[in-house]
Amino acid sequence: MRSITAAIAPSIPIADMRQGPGARLQRLCDLLGIAGARLSSIATDGLVVTAAAGAQTPMAALEARAVAAAQPLVIADTAQGPVRFYVGIVLPGEADHPKQLLSLFDPRPRSAMMATTIAALAGEVLAQAAIERQRRQLEAQVRIINDYAALEVQRRTLFDRASATARIGIWQCNLSDNSLIWTNGVYDLFEIPRDTAVTRELTLACYTDESRRQMEAARAEAIARCSDFSLDCEIVTTSGKRRWMRLTGAVESRDGVAHRIFGMKQDITEEKLMADRTRYLAEFDVMTGLANRTQFQARLAQRDSGDREVGALLLMDLDGFKQVNDTYGHAIGDVCLKEAARRLVDGCGSADLVARIGGDEFAVLLGPGATLADMEASAAGIVGSMRGPVFVTGQTLRLSASVGMAPYRGGSSEDLFRQADIALYAAKAAGRNTSSTFKPA
Ligand code: GH3
Ligand code: MG
Repeated sequence: MRSITAAIAPSIPIADMRQGPGARLQRLCDLLGIAGARLSSIATDGLVVTAAAGAQTPMAALEARAVAAAQPLVIADTAQGPVRFYVGIVLPGEADHPKQLLSLFDPRPRSAMMATTIAALAGEVLAQAAIERQRRQLEAQVRIINDYAALEVQRRTLFDRASATARIGIWQCNLSDNSLIWTNGVYDLFEIPRDTAVTRELTLACYTDESRRQMEAARAEAIARCSDFSLDCEIVTTSGKRRWMRLTGAVESRDGVAHRIFGMKQDITEEKLMADRTRYLAEFDVMTGLANRTQFQARLAQRDSGDREVGALLLMDLDGFKQVNDTYGHAIGDVCLKEAARRLVDGCGSADLVARIGGDEFAVLLGPGATLADMEASAAGIVGSMRGPVFVTGQTLRLSASVGMAPYRGGSSEDLFRQADIALYAAKAAGRNTSSTFKPA
């Protein structure tokens, strides 16, 4: 039987028998050596013929018996009527097909053995077709799964690449047991191998004390309020690198009770360094490291707005500095400026602010507690320290500076600056290398 089926199966178009046209049924009839066949949909109100081959004859009673039978109905000889040989096989319905009845018939009867053989052959052909149909369905499903998997791989690759470029990772913490789920980006941020089973303790150990404290406070508040939080934290990775991380978290609640926190962690080290650098450049003089004119003016503005008090202002300007540049060159001039700044800071440790406010011009703001004597001592100290020799590239240079002083006696910071400037001018006029105090008219 198997060899016969194997021989005939390839010659049957391997397709859904129920969907094939009458020609396919005709081929089946030819193969089985019978006169006719038909395929009918089994509807609730009767059979509807969907395909037929050979001379058709009414056989409603036989078909009804076949539909009702649990097994294929095989009748070798009906003993009467136009149909003497009949085989009825119910084909199971599928998702988009109703059950169908395949009827094979012939006006001539068959022997019982021949009838069984024909029915078995038909059954095998149908089974072969069904297997093929299932194979194709499976293939289609596998194709869909593969396509989806390929898409998923692409999506993940894209996500991973985008995350890596943006240095972002996504994290989640289940609040019932504090279990964590991280995407690769978070592992990379902390420099923890990607397959590590992370715990909250492991993560917390990477935060600096200050950042851990801030993060725990923000997290606890977000959990209590079922709200969001965002802050920048400093961490030390497992390989010892210091990094800044922007942490955002959102709390998800069920019936008003927080049960999950999730969010993003982004490496903002470069951004932070850049911002620090920008802030530094905005407020400090790169060459000397002192506060710059902008910061100095901001301090004076704080006095005007009542946020800060001032005791006195000292302005210092190097004497004949153009000559230093002209004689020794700009580079050596720079070394002198740095040395002057260093001596100024050394001698004015108690000052509120020491700033470089121009080329060779510096300012010292003394706090409100400074007395006139303190102010004068500072000025004398500055003038004295600037006189000390400067050793550069084997040469010994001599500098000097003039200082103008103005104790704060009321008025605006602009008044104070003008008064100190007048005093500085007076010191220059007095021969330089000295200091002078503003004297009100
Ligand atoms: P005075 O005694 O009247 O103060 O005369 P001066 O030669 O010091 O001249 P002034 O204070 O009017 O000018 C400051 C000079 O400082 C001008 C410029 O040649 C020099 N200078 C300004 N900025 C820099 C700098 O960044 N580097 C160097 N090497 N020189 C500077
Ligand atoms: Mg000068």
